[in-house]
Order: sequence, then structure tokens, then C-alpha cells
Amino acid sequence: MSWIDKILPSGVRRSGGGDGSSSVPEGLWKKCVKCDAVLYLPDVERNRDVCPKCDHHMRIGARRRLDIFFDKENREEVFADIEPIDRLKFKDKKRYRDRLNAAQKATGEKDALIAMCGELHGMPVVALAFEFEFHGGSMGYAVGEKFTRAAHLALEKRAPLVCFSASGGARMQEALISLMQMAKTSAVIERLKCAGVPYVSVMTDPIYGGVSASLALLGDINIAEPDARAGFAGPNIIEQTIRQKLPKGFQRSEFLLEHGAVDMIVHRNKLRDTIARLLGKLMATPEMGAGPAQAVEPVPEEETEQPQGVDGETSAASVPEGDD
Ligand SMILES: [Zn+2]
Repeated sequence: MSWIDKILPSGVRRSGGGDGSSSVPEGLWKKCVKCDAVLYLPDVERNRDVCPKCDHHMRIGARRRLDIFFDKENREEVFADIEPIDRLKFKDKKRYRDRLNAAQKATGEKDALIAMCGELHGMPVVALAFEFEFHGGSMGYAVGEKFTRAAHLALEKRAPLVCFSASGGARMQEALISLMQMAKTSAVIERLKCAGVPYVSVMTDPIYGGVSASLALLGDINIAEPDARAGFAGPNIIEQTIRQKLPKGFQRSEFLLEHGAVDMIVHRNKLRDTIARLLGKLMATPEMGAGPAQAVEPVPEEETEQPQGVDGETSAASVPEGDD
């Protein structure tokens, strides 16, 4: 035991299992992965998990994300009963079912997306956040379905939809079913657009693959957090494919802003106010008589992919029948 272990209060344990891999005591202190500063945890939390020294935006979980986004009152989780389904009985090194069980146990979530209804500065909003710790925030049936139902709820309430995405992409263990979620979520975003209900996408580090290629980059306004990585394939794969060195800062939000892939970069401490201001303007437009949104006919219910009898089962359009 080193001298620092001996003088630490008994309630404060050192992380890293005593192997010297970290010198930061767990519980009160947190080390910034970017600037290596040892930070007092309450200071970090007060600053919404942004490093007070170097402004690095640390990764945060879905529930914390929604907690700091919504007003304190009048919020509730929705569609919490949607669960992933291992229709293909998929197995690689491990069974997909076992991977799901482990992720559910580790995170306490059923899948990688949380949906909530609440208010933002008093304005009703439906918001979603990805839990990256659940299977890399990957999008399978449950994520696509929850996004789609939340979007339908936003349509019904005529409340704006906001999604905070952090994902490695489509969930390969669900093969075609996961890829279909890209089409399904893109289609429902189009319905929002036709109905004049705003959809704001907030990209947080990291956002890749099928999620960036669908719902994350289809916002009426695409916002990114500072220094977040976003792209389709990772930079190593692109470099190997095109056999060229990529420019500095490639796929970081500042680079994407400069090249027109995102509309704005917003500091986490200003997200609430900025989104509220944007939504206030967007929601005000139709009422002011501009009216293009009102003129669009709603799509008849039969043409949609939304499941009719909500029985915990899936949309018939999104999932093939069992074929084994
Ligand atoms: Zn830092």
C-alpha cells in the first residue's frame, strides 16, 4: 500500500484495483482525459460534466443528458417497455442474448435509447438520448422503434422532437433489421417535416455509422457539441481505403461546421437556452400565418409503419416474421 492509500479516508477508495493504473481516488475526484487535470467531482457535475480547466465535454449517460436538458418539473419517461428482440438467434464469439443481458445489467436500461416527454422553458418537448454504454449506443429494432414512436408522439402533440445521439452505428447482431431502422427513422422524420413539427438533432461524441447516416444528420437543425467526433466510417478505415492522409481535425465538429455538415456548435452549458430559442422561433412560424406546415395533408395512418396494436411486439413493416 502506497503512502497516499494510508492517508486516504476509509470511504474514499482508489480506482484501478490498487495496481497503480490510476492515481485518482474514486468518489471525490475525476481525471480529465484531455488535459489530465484532477478535478473535484462536484465542480465537474455543476459544470454539466464539462472540464472546468480545458472545456472538454465528457461523455454523459442518457438519463443525465435528459436530466440536464429538461425543466425540473413535468417530465416523464415514455415507451420504456420497448425491449430488444433477438430474432435471428445471433451468435458470434458470444450469443447476442448474452451480450444484451450483460448490457442491461451493466446499465440498468433495456436498450440504448431513452425517450421522455417534458418541458423546455415551459414549452412541451419530446426528447430522446442515446446511452452509449449500452452496446456502444448501437441502433437495433428497439432503438429505431422507440425513436419512431417518440416522433409519432411529437406529431400528435405538435411538440418539437429533440434527439441527443451518441452511437457506434447500426447493431450488426440484428443484421437487416438494424439497417431497416435507418429507413424507418428517416421516414418518420420526413413526416415531422411535412407536418411542420421541428426536429433538432444534437450530435455528441461519438456519432458514427448508420445512426449518423440517418436520424443524427436529418435534423431541421443539426447541432454538435464542441470537439465531438461524427462521421460514417472511422478515419482509419477511410485512410486505408483512399490511401491518403486525412486533414487535421477530420470528423471533429469544428471541421464539420466549416464544411457544412453541421449547422452550429453549441457548448453544453448553453444547449438548453439555444435549443429553446431555436424552437421558439420554429414553432412560432406556422401560427404567424406563413402556413406551409399547415397546408400539408397528414399521411393516412395505414401508410405508416407505426404498430397498431401496441402489444410490445414490433411493427410488421420493420421486422420479418420468424423464419427458422
Ligand atoms: Zn480538461
